[in-house]
Amino acid sequence: MMKFGGWGDPGKAYDLSHRPNLWPFVRAQSGLGDQIIAPSRRAAEMTVPAPRLDAGFMDAVTAALGAAHVSTATEARLLHTYGKSYRDLLRARTGTPARSPDAVLFPANRSEVEAILRAAVQYGVQVVPFGGGTNICGGVEPDPTRPGMCVTVSLRRMKRVLVLDRVARTARIEAGALGPELEAELNARGFSLGHFPDSFEFSTLGGWLATRSAGMQSDAYGKIEDMVVSLTLCTPGGTLVTSNVPRSATGPDLSQIAVGSEGTLGLITEAVMRVHPLGEREYRGILVPGFDQGINLVRELTHRGALPTTTRLSNQQETALGFAMKPKSHGAGAFAAKAFKAYLRHVKRFPFDNACLMIVGFEAATHRELAEKRRRTLAICREFGAVNLGTSVGASWFAGKYDYPYLRDVVMDRGGMVDVVETAATWDVLPGLYHELKAALHAHLRRGEFPGYVGCHLSHSYPAGACLYFTFAALAEVGRQLPQYIEAKKLIFELLLKHGATLTHHHAVGYELLPWMSRHLGETGLQMLRGLKHSVDPQNLCNPGKLIPGLTPAQDLYFPPAT
Ligand SMILES: Cc1cc2nc3c(=O)[nH]c(=O)nc-3n(C[C@H](O)[C@H](O)[C@H](O)COP(=O)(O)OP(=O)(O)OC[C@H]3O[C@@H](n4cnc5c(N)ncnc54)[C@H](O)[C@@H]3O)c2cc1C
Repeated sequence: MMKFGGWGDPGKAYDLSHRPNLWPFVRAQSGLGDQIIAPSRRAAEMTVPAPRLDAGFMDAVTAALGAAHVSTATEARLLHTYGKSYRDLLRARTGTPARSPDAVLFPANRSEVEAILRAAVQYGVQVVPFGGGTNICGGVEPDPTRPGMCVTVSLRRMKRVLVLDRVARTARIEAGALGPELEAELNARGFSLGHFPDSFEFSTLGGWLATRSAGMQSDAYGKIEDMVVSLTLCTPGGTLVTSNVPRSATGPDLSQIAVGSEGTLGLITEAVMRVHPLGEREYRGILVPGFDQGINLVRELTHRGALPTTTRLSNQQETALGFAMKPKSHGAGAFAAKAFKAYLRHVKRFPFDNACLMIVGFEAATHRELAEKRRRTLAICREFGAVNLGTSVGASWFAGKYDYPYLRDVVMDRGGMVDVVETAATWDVLPGLYHELKAALHAHLRRGEFPGYVGCHLSHSYPAGACLYFTFAALAEVGRQLPQYIEAKKLIFELLLKHGATLTHHHAVGYELLPWMSRHLGETGLQMLRGLKHSVDPQNLCNPGKLIPGLTPAQDLYFPPAT
């Protein structure tokens, strides 16, 4: 399991020692000192409220799973209490949880999951599905407003690749497999799923499906919903097994109804996923003369069918952070970089003040195909005044891509507030939305001479538009950390609705977006979601208080009026 009050591997931390420019950059944005003032605690140092155990339910699940796979241990309950949002980590660091699961269950197969749901229906027990626990939307927290027992069901024992069909290029995979587990098995047989979210190391196939996740190679392989062929969903009302066919016109696609259901309809136990053969790969850095020009450039790549496998365009602040994170370089490499920069500035008149880094990644079956893709992309980049920085910038970004989340812990340890928000909108909306949201966040985060950090990147592009992903950070207001965060969230979601953008492109709803969901979906949309839920889970047992507003009073607890 991951750290309790932080991100990732308990044995790993973000190393500041060989990055001399990083902390001066963070301090200049936020005023944050470099001393640890708010360290994280380990789960072993904390307590939880006594479990509310229902004897009949416990007997039934112990008989079905075996006592070894039914845990009421404090550590197991704590480690399955929260996800990994700023709100989650703040609470994990500072107090006893108001509500933890009363027991954590570890089924090994579909029939054990079905036995759990039968017992839940019989005894009225709340059931929270749990994959890797990496969500940042409050997706795995028990509903504190519901009386009675709550169990969390971890799918982590169900992690095998069951079948690889080389002819159909699909794999049947159990839902509890973590990214590295399923990729290792597929890679050993020459294939890849091609789904690499930034949380890849600690998130699961079931979690990806349940949240409509998007990975960094989505521009070529699609999002998780594009990869799923069929799936098995165990609900309190019975089990749905969708057909393993490439497409069907037999009414609405029920697999796609399960995708994004966030555990509110039941548990996904396995899925048949499209896979593709491993091939050549290359990452490059491109310097773009400004974020607005970059948006136009990515749109053009999309419309001319020249979008690489990965396209990630950072704004100026995120670009500056990326360069500040680089280890100090010496010798010939440093000299060559300086000379190249001087050439761009003085000979090419490149506007460095607005420079934005764009990472592009190419994948193809053969080296020749890759070269052709690269040629087409770079030709369009040149039309927009962008400069190819070569593969070393791309390779170093690729090597460190899973390390960024560890930096959040470093900032929180030193009294900082860090959070993210992502959305998608049509091309005409994106520039205005970007500038207004950035300005509003700075106005909220600014403390005297410190403007606050508002990094942003554009990624996951479509013919109609793209995703914008903001990371914002500032000095946390001591004693007001949660209100400060809630105020930021409120201003963000109001602005997204005002611009007609989605509330989330890939992080899902959980309880964090509930107050805005009615306005986003409209009354008819809400009725349809409620009806769907009621059709398989009339007692509202599966992950109550998530995704669908108005079914429990939980949402009012998370967004109290500002103090
Ligand atoms: C540092 C960081 C980086 C991230 N980067 C990305 C990114 O690049 N792209 C992206 O899409 N997301 C990203 N996320 C968000 C998160 O990783 C995704 O939402 C991910 O899909 C969650 O998977 P999980 O296995 O951890 O699910 P969990 O967090 O355990 O659960 C998420 C939701 O799915 C439900 N659920 C889990 N498993 C099942 C199942 N088998 N059946 C039914 N319901 C289930 C849970 O009840 C919950 O509602 C990031 C999060 C962090 C903290």
